Amino acid sequence: MAKIRLSNFGAPESEYETKYDWGFFCQSGANGVVFSQKGNYQTAFFEAFPRNPKCFIRGEGATVEEAEQDAWEQWQKIQVCNHEMERRNRKDGYGYCKYCTYSDMVFEPLTKCCKCGEPTRYTTDNKEHWYCKKHSRNIPKRLKQEWMLDRHKRLPRVTKKVMKKGAAIKLTGSKYGKVKFEYKVTIAFRANGYRLDIFNRKQRRLLIQMGK
Ligand SMILES: [Zn+2]
Ligand SMILES: [Zn+2]
Repeated sequence: MAKIRLSNFGAPESEYETKYDWGFFCQSGANGVVFSQKGNYQTAFFEAFPRNPKCFIRGEGATVEEAEQDAWEQWQKIQVCNHEMERRNRKDGYGYCKYCTYSDMVFEPLTKCCKCGEPTRYTTDNKEHWYCKKHSRNIPKRLKQEWMLDRHKRLPRVTKKVMKKGAAIKLTGSKYGKVKFEYKVTIAFRANGYRLDIFNRKQRRLLIQMGK
């Protein structure tokens, strides 16, 4: 049992006393937004970030208690499962267990560097060719993504913060979801094994709108 931060959209944050002793970082919200093809809906959610195996669990329910219960049951299954991983439609090496909700970056990427042929998920040019870290330094100017051209312009800190929140909503369903910001060749956000690339000003504006 531990007290964790409970995020409430539009309302002050509060604390939630967990029912189970998780032993690693968890976060929860009373009204997260889930983006789905059938339409967006609101739900209570409970997210857990186990270290061993390293993965991400998201439970949902009508209440935070229900969401925690859902997450806990998933975690019990993950721990005793003989995982059999499959790629589904992912090419980046991310895999999902056929039997439980365990997922992680477990495979080599299927995409290969167009210069050296090494499997890579590092970056692409504007023609969707892949490049490893080393060869991404020599992408011809005409093939560079818009963001590669002004990569030396620093992104203002406030803009970055707002974009990060927008990305968190997109990738985790929650403004407070844990998202990693990357600014190597393009701006990208990572969460739960997903990657969101920001290639142009339109995408950037959209994310800022969402994060505000
Ligand atoms: Zn499994
Ligand atoms: Zn290469």
